[in-house]
Parts: sequence; C-alpha cells; structure tokens
Amino acid sequence: MRIFAAILGTETNTFAPLPTGLAEFEPIEPTPGGPPDEMKHPFAQIIRAVRERARRDGHEVVCGRGAFATPGGLTTRRAYETLRDRLLDDLRAALPVDIVALGLHGAMIADGYDDAEGDFLAHVRRLVGPQTIVAAELDLHGHLTQQKVDSADILVFFKEYPHTDIYERAVEVVDLAVAAAEKRIKPVMSVFDPKMISVFHSSREPTRSFVDRMTALEGRDGVLSVSLVHGFPWGDCPEFGTKILVVTDNRKAYGDALAEQLGRDVIAMREKTLADYMTPDHAIDVASNTQGCVVVADSADNPGGGAAGDSTFVLARMIARGVADAALGPLWDPGAVAHCFAAGEGARLALRIGGKTSAASGDPLDVEALVLKCVRDAKMIDAFGRGEKATALMGDSAAIRVGGVDIVLNACRTQAMGDVFTPLGIDWRAKRLVVVKSSQHFYAAYAPSAVKVLYVQTPASMTMDWNSLPFRKRPDGVWPFER
Ligand SMILES: [Zn+2]
Repeated sequence: MRIFAAILGTETNTFAPLPTGLAEFEPIEPTPGGPPDEMKHPFAQIIRAVRERARRDGHEVVCGRGAFATPGGLTTRRAYETLRDRLLDDLRAALPVDIVALGLHGAMIADGYDDAEGDFLAHVRRLVGPQTIVAAELDLHGHLTQQKVDSADILVFFKEYPHTDIYERAVEVVDLAVAAAEKRIKPVMSVFDPKMISVFHSSREPTRSFVDRMTALEGRDGVLSVSLVHGFPWGDCPEFGTKILVVTDNRKAYGDALAEQLGRDVIAMREKTLADYMTPDHAIDVASNTQGCVVVADSADNPGGGAAGDSTFVLARMIARGVADAALGPLWDPGAVAHCFAAGEGARLALRIGGKTSAASGDPLDVEALVLKCVRDAKMIDAFGRGEKATALMGDSAAIRVGGVDIVLNACRTQAMGDVFTPLGIDWRAKRLVVVKSSQHFYAAYAPSAVKVLYVQTPASMTMDWNSLPFRKRPDGVWPFER
C-alpha cells in the first residue's frame, strides 16, 4: 500500500493582533525514510504513526512538505495558498496513493478562507478521486465543518485537553485508514450540532467521565471513533461551535442517533463544563492564604490560542500588591530579553516589560530588574507532563527578579505547555504563587506539584468574556451567547 502523509495547520484567533504569515509557519519536512522518533513536533505524530505502521506491514510512505504555526491572528492568504499549493504539488507527484493521512489543526482561518483546512481537504479529494482513503487527525479545538466531513473518509479529533493523546489518536487514524483501504471497514461519519460552545477540561468532571464514555463506546456496535469537537471560541466563522462526531462502520442511522444522544448529554452538562475564572486579585488572595504552591493559569493571554503572551494584567497586580515568593512566565518580550543579555547575569537595570503588542496586552511595566540568568535558545522541559526530555522551544530567555516575583522573559512566543522555570534556574515548586501563560496545556506538568490550580480572567485576546468580542460570522442561537 502507498500512503501519503503530511501536516498543515494553525489555530486562528480572529480577535488576536498578530498576523500569521508564511514566516510564522515552522516547516516540518521529515527526512525521507527517516526514523519515526525524529517527529517531535506535537502535530507531527501522524507521520510517526504512519511510518511505524509502514515499517511493520511493509507499506510505502511519501511525506509532503508540511508546516505548522504557533496560534495567532488571521492567517494571510499568501501563507495559506503557498502552503496548500506546495502540499498539493507533493501529493500530485506522489500519485497514485491508497491513503492520504493528514495531521491538521482544524481551526485555521485565512484571509478569504473561513475553513482553510476544509478547503485543503476538498482540493485533496479532487486530486485523488473517490477511491483513495482520505483520513485526518485534528485538534479538538478545530471547527468541524460540512466541507471537512464531505471531503474526508475518516476524521478523528484529540480527546484530551490538555492534549496528551495526540500520538494515540494518530495511531487510530492510521489503523482505520488502513482497514478502510483494505475494505475491511466502510467508515461513515455522523455529526450532531448542539448549538453551543464551551471550554472542556478533561482533567476535571464532568468532561473526564464524558471522555471515558466516548472511549468505551468505540470498538463495538460498529462504532469506530467518537469525537467531542470542542470548537474554538476565539475563531469567528460561520460553522463555529461544539460538535459531536461519530464514525461507524457503515451504520449511518445508528451513528446519527448516537451523535444526537451524546450531543444532548453535552447540552445537559454544559453549565458545569467551564472552570471558575476568577479575578487576578482573587487568585492572589487565595495564594496568600494557602500553604504550598498555587498555580494560576493566565488563560486569556495564552499564546497557544493566538494571544500575544505579553499582557501585564496579572503581573501588574502582583507587583502593585508586593506579592512575594512568586513566579510568572513566559512573558514574551524579545526586546527586554536583548537588554538582559546585554546587561548580563547579576546586573540590575531599569526595564520596560510586556504590554507592547496591542491594547489586549495591557500597559507596559517599568520595573527595576535583577537579571538572574540568561539562556540562549532555551527549551522548556516536561512538556505535557512527559518528562525532562519532552522539550519545547522558548527562544533566548532571561530570568529576572522584580520585587518578590521571578519572571521568565522569552523571545520565541510560546505558551507554558511545560516547565519554563527550571531551565532558567527558578525553583517554582518552592514558590507560593506561580502564574503561567497557558489555558490548560500547562496542567500535566504543573498540577502534580501544586496544592491548587486556579484560572484567572483578564481582558487579553483569549478573554472568557465572549460577549465582549466583535463576532461577525458565527451563527445566531449559540449558547452561551443567546440565553
Ligand atoms: Zn487544542
């Protein structure tokens, strides 16, 4: 069997200020025939899974020149069309193929394309024809659109948030695609739209039990895969919202009924899905009255959801209140990082930090900083709680001390999906208050050492005050907008 594998995607926050151009896309071009373990990029797991399967069963693999971008604002038309056309050229050159296995995000919105990855899938289908199996793994924050469903045979979304199951879902996509290409199964997809949107943390109830239930439904009664597609609340598009997707082995009516039943169960639990988002001052109060390490997620300024990562709303309150034994990071500020490198470790200097990208970043803070440590091309460790060897790039980074707060400044915009403090010499576990720029991917690395995990609400680009956002395209009647 001949398999074409590639990845393409980003998560577009249509309310975020930073445009996502071609330079923002990190090329992911696997070495032909290279080892599967080279695919360390989280979204490249589909290529790893395809290669492992091919090695085992003797399939032939052709990889396309894929790319992924850290979430940001609207993707430029040039970026999307360039990447799409390059991948289609690669696919055309690889034809004929039995399977196209893709790793997509699903929430890419480009100038002129409300559903960029749906457009890409439609082009793929036109190119390969109806016989080739088109299968994709997607992020549960993607938008499940009719175009995606119409263009693919198999779509499987992550189940876990934090996304700790990307590899496992990739293996499923490959298993199903191979079975379909060998005509052992005939996948059909059923979708239910509960007309709502929420943020579902699988680390907490009621989402935890719902995810376990979806998993238990798979592999019997002809059910091949069940996905709760969360949707992305900060991506304004016509097919916005949470969806249920059931893939069955040619049992459309059963799949439709199951998707609807699961969708009604999601509606019944939706009021309980959102975490309690408190004010920064409330979180500081809780930490000051708690023994042990309190970890606070500054979720509205999560670069992993397109925010700039340089907002100062929480830090300003920490400094103003003289909080001690605290840490915060990563605060994206390449300019301040450069000043710290120029001054050197041990230097004291006046520094203007954060608050630079847009109004959603708040005001910059003018502080007296002690430079604790400077690290070139720093890497966070323990990404998704997977240990010291699970690293992610932070770029040149500096640890500074401002009053009682140790701050990690970094040059490569990224969220705290892992431990950003230890590589900069900060013993965060000994702090009483640790603030991370992340919505939920921090959880696996930090929660085991925290006595409490809290989520705060600020006016940054991923604000939880969704009614304050200027939506133009999302459909009417979506809970919780219209109650
Ligand atoms: Zn996601």
